[in-house]
Amino acid sequence: MGLKQEVESLEKEAAELIKNAESLEELGRIRVEFLGKKGKLKNVLKTLGKLSPEERKEIGQVANRIKEEIENLLREREQILKEKALEEELKKDRIDISLPPSWVEVGSAHPVVSTLIEISQIFISMGFSVAEGPEVEKEEYNFDMLNIPKDHPARDMQDTFFLNNGMVLRTHTSPVQIRTMLKHKPPIAVIAPGRVYRKDADPTHSPMFHQIEGLLVDENVTFRDLKGTLKIFLEGIFGKEIGIRFRPSYFPFTEPSAEVDISCTVCGGSGCRVCKGTGWLEILGCGMVDPNVFEAVGIDPEKYTGFAFGLGIERIAMLRYRINDIRLLFENDMRFNHQFKGIR
Ligand SMILES: [Zn+2]
Repeated sequence: MGLKQEVESLEKEAAELIKNAESLEELGRIRVEFLGKKGKLKNVLKTLGKLSPEERKEIGQVANRIKEEIENLLREREQILKEKALEEELKKDRIDISLPPSWVEVGSAHPVVSTLIEISQIFISMGFSVAEGPEVEKEEYNFDMLNIPKDHPARDMQDTFFLNNGMVLRTHTSPVQIRTMLKHKPPIAVIAPGRVYRKDADPTHSPMFHQIEGLLVDENVTFRDLKGTLKIFLEGIFGKEIGIRFRPSYFPFTEPSAEVDISCTVCGGSGCRVCKGTGWLEILGCGMVDPNVFEAVGIDPEKYTGFAFGLGIERIAMLRYRINDIRLLFENDMRFNHQFKGIR
């Protein structure tokens, strides 16, 4: 075989090996084997010296072309192998989006929670901040400092859960007023939502329910401010057309005190079973903070005045969603809860 054929046969040999190479390492070895300093191509060209100048030139050109050709084949194969490796990698990590998902049901807020959130947002938009207190409360904070002395009938009236350690389950969120005023000096504007407990159970009373308390204390706060604040709140919840009336009432911790009614959301005021024919629904209690309460927490009643109000979240939720039995709210019957999906 002439030198030229020998060189050309190297090309075929290399091309075949490269085509079948399955890894980058293998390609590396082929490169060294054919194009390395001690490689096959160099080896063949060692004998070049014996040829005539013309032959040498010709073979030299052939050798260069073949060297270039082998380089090209190596590069192409390298590219293919790299792409294959990447594809393998991607296959391993692939998420099959056609697989059916494990069954997840999207939940929704409980009507009590969504009502609580909505009420809170209205007061927050008016500048109130949210205060919290414990559900197991000192008797002192739940009664005494709120101007409810030991022999006061309100203590019986409220049917309190007394605990063995002398504490009580708070019967209202009003002790948060005390805690707030002990900690902060006026001006104060807080709402205090939370659970409260009373020995009471019938279609409209639950031994545990949610209240939201409001307290605003500053100089020159009047009953007018209270009325305006509650008007904004009630219209925010029940709509601008709602009728609102204040009735004189009594609470130990406010003076004067009032109960607030709204026009019946069922009959619109003409009288029905829900409003017991009156056209009005009791919705909350409120009043101007009693000076005795201010004195109990060390706020000067000559300098400051304030108002407070409290309402039951369940009551509002029941009116909004036309729920006729409070117990439905706590049974966690999914058939009931599902009806409030997507309602705000
Ligand atoms: Zn009615």
